[in-house]
Amino acid sequence: MRAVRFHSVGQPPVLEDVDPPRPGPGEVLLDVAAAGVCGTELHFLDGLLAPARTPITLGHEVAGTVAEVGAGVVDVAVGDRVAVHYLHPCGRCHWCRAGDDHLCDAPLGFLAFVTDGGFADQLVVPASATVPVPGSVSLPLAATLCCSGSTALHAVATAGVSAGDTAVVYGAGGVGLAIVQVLRERGARAIAVARNPERLALARELGADATVDGTSDDVAAAIRAATGGTGADAVFELVGTRATSSAALAALGKGGALVYVGYSFDRIEFDPLSLVVPEQRILTSVGNRRAELVEALDLAARGRLRSVVTEHPLDDAVRVLDELRAGRVLGRAVLVP
Ligand SMILES: [Zn+2]
Ligand SMILES: [Zn+2]
Repeated sequence: MRAVRFHSVGQPPVLEDVDPPRPGPGEVLLDVAAAGVCGTELHFLDGLLAPARTPITLGHEVAGTVAEVGAGVVDVAVGDRVAVHYLHPCGRCHWCRAGDDHLCDAPLGFLAFVTDGGFADQLVVPASATVPVPGSVSLPLAATLCCSGSTALHAVATAGVSAGDTAVVYGAGGVGLAIVQVLRERGARAIAVARNPERLALARELGADATVDGTSDDVAAAIRAATGGTGADAVFELVGTRATSSAALAALGKGGALVYVGYSFDRIEFDPLSLVVPEQRILTSVGNRRAELVEALDLAARGRLRSVVTEHPLDDAVRVLDELRAGRVLGRAVLVP
């Protein structure tokens, strides 16, 4: 079968022929329907993140149809439409038992980080990592929710945003656009910041109450003006550079939370005093819980969470990654084998 494999930093991934995987006990074989192309892929190519082994098949946002089940699988059947929780939790460790399965100590697999991902014709995952996709949700949309939608739900929960709050979404890619919608769902006001006018227009279409041009001279002042001068209750940092962090901190109001979801090679400096006096918080949010993927799919089924999805063939992977790097992907691109 075909798979898009990452070999080494600085080299584009390669579409190769590999042996098709076989499902072992407790596992299922999926025919991949779609796999989202996320900024995380670029972090592998750039060497900011290192997978546990190379070569490895990229793609952690995957939905498909069950083609075969391994021994002992009883709750998933051939033909089921499923989304994959990309960090496959063990279900037994301290973190899993506490419901924080995204922090699992002994995951059964981790797509594209430890085990082969979904930029391929087929994929084997533990049956316990699959989540049923409601009939009204397309598999390409379901694939994007495995990262962007569910990561957005997790980030908004981490920030503790409540109805009536104002939150800034700094970066309007796949995750940012999903956060805008989740904020609206929670009754909060969203201000989106992006450098691309088409992304800002899309953020408004998806529910942003205000937008700020990320190329303007003083982004923080523009955000403060949009909050009536008080600053934001939360800022979701999806870029994570020195410049965006500085603007994000300056835009934060009293008691506000700066939540890092994105990151870069930059190191960030801050002055503790300027955080202590207004009692501001710096938080981080990684990935998502299985329950958040279930909620994302449910919101999508009720029309409350959308993705703008563009479909591309598997052999276009390198071109799509280049487009993503250049900031030319609007919404989420998925690879369709
Ligand atoms: Zn992702
Ligand atoms: Zn665990």
